[in-house]
Amino acid sequence: MARTGLPKCSFCGKLQNEVDRLIAGPGVWICNQCIDLCQSLMDQESPQRDPARPRVPALKVPKPHDIKAQLDDYVIGQDQAKKVFSVAVHNHYKRLKHKISQTSKQGSEDEDVDLEKSNILMIGPTGTGKTLLARSLARILDVPFSIADATTLTEAGYVGEDVENILLRLLQAAEFNVERAERGIIYIDEIDKIGRKTENVSITRDVSGEGVQQALLKILEGTVANIPPQGGRKHPQQEYIKLNTEHILFICGGAFVGLDELIRRRRGKGRLGFGHAATSSTNQLLRPETEDLLRFGLIPEFVGRLPVVCKLDELTEADLVRILTAPKHAMVRQYRKLLSMEGVDLSFSDGALREIAHIATQKATGARGLRAIMEHIMLDVMYDVPRKGDIKTVRIDKSVVSGHRAALGLADKSLKMAS
Ligand code: ADP
Repeated sequence: MARTGLPKCSFCGKLQNEVDRLIAGPGVWICNQCIDLCQSLMDQESPQRDPARPRVPALKVPKPHDIKAQLDDYVIGQDQAKKVFSVAVHNHYKRLKHKISQTSKQGSEDEDVDLEKSNILMIGPTGTGKTLLARSLARILDVPFSIADATTLTEAGYVGEDVENILLRLLQAAEFNVERAERGIIYIDEIDKIGRKTENVSITRDVSGEGVQQALLKILEGTVANIPPQGGRKHPQQEYIKLNTEHILFICGGAFVGLDELIRRRRGKGRLGFGHAATSSTNQLLRPETEDLLRFGLIPEFVGRLPVVCKLDELTEADLVRILTAPKHAMVRQYRKLLSMEGVDLSFSDGALREIAHIATQKATGARGLRAIMEHIMLDVMYDVPRKGDIKTVRIDKSVVSGHRAALGLADKSLKMAS
């Protein structure tokens, strides 16, 4: 308290009647001018930090080897794709981390650093692990992840889904933490289905193809998008969330049926593709060039924004057997666990696993077919085991898989044999 009887700011000494506001603490006072000064000092020291935002965990940038090793826990086979991915992703997040540290040190970007984004194009048959790769990557890096289906997208103004909805889903995955979402990964599936239709002679615009590519291009390149928080169409009176897509990693995937044929034809004309990587797989040797993707209907700017291209191989029967048993969340492990809760020991013979894989390859849906086959085999077991309390073991062999014998027939027998 000053001699005048008026309280004064403990920082600058101004009296209450010399400032707009004076706020009291226990035995101290602070004026509005000193509060403003303190705030601007704090802003200068950490310009990124918005007090309204929750903190974002430090960005993990594992080495390519470590990313690949962790991907191996989830994704079977696809070694070349996992390698390409590991390097691209390591570089992407290394650049981002560098940029964050530059910005917080100097308050401005390092002009010399090339921060061009390495969005990824994945080409591979259905059920070979494209979505799984992208999802596993986000898990390893601990960044938000969302999936979009290119076929449901339309350019703004048409019936369908606006591209901003893709970003909204990422924001939701990041629990509306904008900063976290801005480092996330978005997987856009069925990208091969939005090719420009050259035979399109309609005077109306090609809403399903080129328009969508143009709309996607903007967010792939990096833009500050206005996102309606509730989703749906934009509305003039609505408040938008601003999301900068500059560092979001976009991974686009598609089966591109017929692309290999285009590549073969091009190469047949005497011009070899750039992919001469030492690999035994002919699939890997058929590396697409920009012109192949253009022929497939992608527009040049769009291809230009997907500088990393990787191909996934068709899964072999041996791969499918490993998918059934090896990953942490492998189906066989899951069923074994479920039955162990009933006190039952479930096992599969090698012949049974090979037969399941064989049936799946005939369906030509990659590993996708495995679940339906397994569920079909396990339905009776899962239905009857809880009812028959006396079952101790269930063994699935080839004859069960091929439908020649009921699974619980053997279980009852093995019980009798044991007793
Ligand atoms: P895609 O996106 O290529 O069509 P997905 O990644 O959605 O295929 O695969 C469907 C399911 O099949 C996955 O959830 C996973 O369980 C299994 N799967 C596919 N490929 C693999 C793989 N290479 N390794 C392990 N599991 C796989």
